[in-house]
Amino acid sequence: MTADPDCLFCKIVAGDIPGDIVHTGERTLAFRDINPQAPLHVLVVPRDHEPNAAASAHADPEMFAEIATTARAVATAEGYDDYRLVFNTGAGVGQTVFHTHCHVLAGRPMTWPPG
Ligand code: 5GP
Repeated sequence: MTADPDCLFCKIVAGDIPGDIVHTGERTLAFRDINPQAPLHVLVVPRDHEPNAAASAHADPEMFAEIATTARAVATAEGYDDYRLVFNTGAGVGQTVFHTHCHVLAGRPMTWPPG
């Protein structure tokens, strides 16, 4: 498994800092966002460190698909059929943590396009 010792989400994956974990998979982990933007706001991350979604999809396409199925499992378990998945990819569109993560958002009306 690849990890970056300076990466916040690698530290959550390793259990070195706490996370409110809602799903534990062999290759993925899902935990609640510390600053939720909707009634359900969970982050699904690969255990392996990659800086963004594009890099993860290139490195491990099957794991990348697993992120989407994990997101659905999390939403379903919390009682939501409708949910939004967001991968901010690059600082220019708001990525602040450079370990691949999928935002799973649900529980309120959402507008399009996103701000
Ligand atoms: P980004 O802006 O990179 O797409 O999303 C990073 C997300 O990580 C933000 O929604 C932010 O609230 C969340 N976040 C930042 N630090 C922590 C933390 O220590 N724990 C958890 N659970 N979420 C965090």
